[in-house]
This record gives sequence, C-alpha cells and structure tokens, in this order.
Amino acid sequence: MEKLSELFGSMVFNETVMRERLPQETFNTLKKTMDQGIPLEEGVANIVANAMKDWAVEKGATHFTHWFQPMTGITAEKHDSFISPQKNGTVIMNFSGKELIKGEPDGSSFPSGGIRATCEARGYTAWDPTSPAFIKDGSLCIPTAFCSYGGEALDKKTPLLRSMDAIDRQSKRILALFGKTVKRVSTTVGPEQEYFLIDADLYRQREDLKLTGRTLFGAPASKGQELDDHYFGVIRTRVSEFMKDLDKALWELGIPAKTKHNEVAPAQHELAPIFSTTNIAADHNQLTMELMKKIAKKHNLVCLLHEKPFAGVNGSGKHNNWSLTTDTGENLLEPGKTPEANAQFLLILTAVIKGVDEYQDLLRASVATAGNDHRLGANEAPPAIISMFVGDELEALLESIQKGVPYDSKDKEVLRLGVDALPDLPKDNTDRNRTSPFAFTGNKFEFRSLGSSLSISCPNIMLNTIIAEEFRQFADILESSQDFNADLNKLIKTTLHQHSRIIFNGNGYSQEWVEEAKQRGLLNLKTTTDAMPTFLEKKNVQLFEQHGVYTEKEMKARYEIQMEEYTKTLLIEARTMITMVYRQIGPAVLSYIKSINETIEGIQKTSSMVSVISMKNLVQKLAENYDMLMDTTQVLGETIQKVGELSDVTEQAIFCTSNIIPTMEKLRTYADTLETITAKESWPFPVYSDLLFYE
Ligand code: ADP
Ligand code: MG
Repeated sequence: MEKLSELFGSMVFNETVMRERLPQETFNTLKKTMDQGIPLEEGVANIVANAMKDWAVEKGATHFTHWFQPMTGITAEKHDSFISPQKNGTVIMNFSGKELIKGEPDGSSFPSGGIRATCEARGYTAWDPTSPAFIKDGSLCIPTAFCSYGGEALDKKTPLLRSMDAIDRQSKRILALFGKTVKRVSTTVGPEQEYFLIDADLYRQREDLKLTGRTLFGAPASKGQELDDHYFGVIRTRVSEFMKDLDKALWELGIPAKTKHNEVAPAQHELAPIFSTTNIAADHNQLTMELMKKIAKKHNLVCLLHEKPFAGVNGSGKHNNWSLTTDTGENLLEPGKTPEANAQFLLILTAVIKGVDEYQDLLRASVATAGNDHRLGANEAPPAIISMFVGDELEALLESIQKGVPYDSKDKEVLRLGVDALPDLPKDNTDRNRTSPFAFTGNKFEFRSLGSSLSISCPNIMLNTIIAEEFRQFADILESSQDFNADLNKLIKTTLHQHSRIIFNGNGYSQEWVEEAKQRGLLNLKTTTDAMPTFLEKKNVQLFEQHGVYTEKEMKARYEIQMEEYTKTLLIEARTMITMVYRQIGPAVLSYIKSINETIEGIQKTSSMVSVISMKNLVQKLAENYDMLMDTTQVLGETIQKVGELSDVTEQAIFCTSNIIPTMEKLRTYADTLETITAKESWPFPVYSDLLFYE
C-alpha cells in the first residue's frame, strides 16, 4: 500500500488541492462560500470548475456527475462526460461553472410525495460547496442538493443544511449570553455502522435475501450468539481482506474510517469513522454503505445492511454520536472546568433534556422504517420508548439543582450556577448503558435507535431543529434578563422539574421500564404506523416552519413517501414469501414426503417385521404443517389483494401493520417447522447455519 498519509483524501478535491490549484483570490472567495454559505459568482465558478476538471482528468476521470440524495434514502447520479466535440473532429475536455453549480436531471421517477406533477418533472441539483467533490469510478462527483423548480426540497441534504443553519443561529445566541462571539457553530456526527457479510454463492440461492435484503424464512441454527464468541473475536481472513480493501477505498475518499471489529451476531461487523461535520458525515456514511456493498462483491461476499437479516440473532443499527462544536474548537457538550463553563454546559444539557422530552415523537419517527421495526423494542436494540441516559453522577447533580438541595460532593452547599465550580464529572461515569436510546457519553450524545440502512440525515434534521428551538426559547428568556445568574438558575431548575421524566438510567430492555415509562407519560410508539403520523402534528409542523427547515407541504410529502415505502416494503416481502412457498418450499416438502412414502412402500414389500410407524408419523407431521403452510399462504395472498382496495397511504400502511405482518409471521412458523424436519438435501435453499457460519 502507498503511504497512508498520501493515500488519504487522494480522490478528494479538498482544501489542500484547492489551495494548490486555484488563484489565491478565487480560493479566498470559495472558502467564504464554503464556510459561510455566500453564493459564488459565475466567473469564480468557471475558474473553480476548470481547476476541478483538470485535477479530475489527471486522476483518470472522464465524466462528472451531480451526486445527490433523493428521498429514496440512497444516492443518485447521472454521468456526463467532459468531452466537447470540435469542428476538426477532435474533442476537448470541458466543464463550466454553470455545470458545476447547477444541473437539471430528469428526476420524474424519484419520489416527490406529490410535490411535482409529472408535467413539471424536472427538478434541479445545486452544488453544496460545504462538502468536497470527489472521484468515484472515473467520475468527478459533485455533492448537490436536489430541489423542485418551486424551490421545495426533494432530497435529504437540503433540509439537513437548513437545520444546521438553524442550530447555528440559535447556538450563537446562547454563546453570546456567556460573552462569546463565534463565526459558526456546527453539529458533528460520528456514525457507527453495523453490517453483515455472507457468502455470495449462498446469497444467490435465496430469493428473500435478493429481493428484500433479509431472510423471510429460516429456523435458527443450533448455535446463535449465546457463546459471545464472535463479539470482538478474531476476524476471518476473508472478512479481514474485505475490511482492508474497504478501509483503503474509504481513505482515498477522505473518509476517516477508524475502528473495525466483529459484532455480537455471527457474521456481523462494525465500522466507525472519526466524527466530522454532520453534512459531511451524512455524505460519507452514504458512500461507506455503497462501498461496503461494492467491495464485498469483489471478495465473493454480500454485505447486508438490512436492520434484521436473521431472526434470533442481533440485527444491525447505526449509532449517531452527536455534538456541537464552534469554529474556535469548543465542544459545547464538554462539561467545563470553570463556573461559567459549567453553567453554559448545564444550560445546554437542560435544553437537550427539554428537547428530547418535548419531541420524543419526532425522534422516534425519524428512525421509523419497516426494517427497523424488527429491532426497536426487541431485546437487542434500544426500545421504541425514547428516554435519556445521563449517568448517575450527572443525574444526582441535576436532581440537586432541581430540588435546591446540596449536591453530595459539594461541601453541602446548594450549587449556584454560574458562580460555583462543579466537581469534575468523571467520564467513565457516563458509561455504557447500551439499552438507552439516547445516551450522554461524556462529551456527546449517542442516539442509538437508528437502523443500519437509514440515511443519517433525517434523525439529524430532527435533532438539530429540536435543539435549535430549545435554544431559541432559552435565549428569548435570558437575553432580556436583568439578573442573569438568578434567571439562569431559575430557568434550569424549572425546566428540569418539568422534563426530567425523560431521564432514565436503568435497563431499557426490561418490562418494568415499559410500565414505568407509561406511568411517566412517555410515548411508546411501537411501529412505523404508530410513529409516523406524529410527524404531522401541529406542534411539529410549527417547529420546522419556524426554523425554515421544512414547509408543511414538504412535510406532508415526506410523510406520504415514508408511509408508501413502508407499505411497498411489506408487500414485496409478502409476495416473496408466497413465491418461495409455492415454488420452492412446497415442492421440496412434497418430494420429501414422496421419498419417505417410497421408503415405507419398499419396506412393506420386503419385510413386514420392520416398523414404519415413525416414518408414517413424520409424514403426518410434514403433511399437517404443509396444510397450514398452504392455507396461510392463501390467506396472505388474499390479504395483499385488500391493500390495493384502500386508497389512502395511511390506511394502507396501518392495514399492513395489523394484517400483513401477523400473517407473514404465522406463515414463517410453519415453514420453519418444516425446515427442521425435512432432510437438508431436500431443502431448497441454504439455511442459517450455512449463511452465518461460513469460512
Ligand atoms: P463506542 O464506545 O460507542 O463503541 P467510541 O467511543 O469509539 O464508540 O466512539 C463512537 C463515535 O463517536 C466515533 O465515531 C467518534 O468519532 C464519535 N465522536 C467522538 N467525539 C465526538 C463528537 N464530539 N461529536 C460527534 N461524534 C463524536
Ligand atoms: Mg456506540
């Protein structure tokens, strides 16, 4: 391998390259655009575009593409070559500022949730200069936002950028209260990505994996994850080769892949990058998922990003580590050492507590998908109930502030914020309560409810906007304060009093918590269809409109798309099950029954002494389960028909939750029973022990 320091970012048109290749003045103007969002003039854009093109062509690129993130949750690209034919029959390579800044893909087939009529199908893409261009597969990729001609966002990037601006505006007001002026407050994210790797030959034999990304049938292997021998275990050579290739590809794109290890379930792994600004982290996470899939293929492996590829072992999630950082390098979630810093930290912490409590519904909705419904609330991922973990020390401290009683280790004095220094909060104290959906981990929050395939944009849009709103309310109160310390103390105290119900440091997986949470009045939105409608509640529409993140129209569109996607996902799964039953499982069971019957006949012909009772019992058991399997398949088919009779996306989705899912679950139990009593060579596709324990 080349030197890592040379490899890193070698395919990125980053600041170093810009500095090298752009005239000083152009660089300065571009830098302003990047840092402060000031629009770029066409003249400057032409110079930048030309330099980008020269750089890309030297690296072997022939095409450019506006790379964007439509509401499908994955990325989209349409490639145009740089060539421009000349009169003399030759070509020159050309790339203009206009082409850099704006594109007009015919995006009529992307979901728009009714925002665009087909007659005005064209949306446009606009360069996001805050995320650097890069080369992938011989194309210069320009990160872009995707909007309709009316200016409505049709993608995941635009609202994310808007939410980052919103939290920047309000954070600066909070910092000003403490006498600080900064240019920019950015949110930072480090997303830990879980995934499965399985053998490609086996994958190809499973219709369910190919069409839905998860196994719809499959009895558990005799061994699962009970021995805990996979977690942090020695990485298989084949997987290790994959990881090396992946790291290299990520580093080339300037993605700071840092940690890799085996996860809890067999064949499950994790990759974590070093955190970066949210916008870039979101782009990088999309690229990471794409590269995982691509590079796995080179090793004859398949990367499964589905939230629950296998029943009975852990599913895959994504931990969204989130914090706020100023351009001066201050992490606003770092408990400080001085009284002022502590007061600032506690005010911000209080804002987050209030935000998570008031907008539990939004945080839950932000991670709602059909796939993730298999995880949330099962005994492996944080529950569908949103709560916050702050650690014992911090909780005791917050309690003492709330009650106005002395904090233990504080010499029996009531703590006066902004005047007294806090004791150092030991970092390892804010520990590893893995069962909490939203945990304070020393200097950042870890939102753990995300599914592995989810774009991180949506949860971060919610988080940023929610916290921006809480900052706004706090700043409104404190900016007009006559006695800052007194009002600050009062504000923190009353807010904690109203919202500390959201804090829970115990075991989130336990049944007791479900009951206690109910008593506390916390929401328990178990499924996507429970969670999504809350997105459109008045308070939430108001929140996003007030901060200029979404218009109501954009929210309605997103709601429609998500509900529709949910229904479509379930219908694809249901249809796949039906096909697998009729074409694979059913025939396999019949031929196995036939072979047993032939054995019985053969025995009865030759010897009346040998007992065939067990054989007949087996046939009986197979036949009974076969009957149930076929009956349930029939019912599932009829239920699917009914979905089409409903016209409203909400009704359709709810119908799927309450009718399709239970029927699918029932169908699976018969098939899985059949699998366990049918000869392996008669079973039509690889089973869990093959898929999860390969070499
Ligand atoms: P865990 O203990 O959850 O397995 P780590 O402590 O190794 O994970 O870190 C998890 C992630 O948190 C990493 O991606 C890391 O870069 C990220 N992280 C660290 N500090 C911050 C921060 N200030 N803002 C956002 N993410 C951060
Ligand atoms: Mg983590």
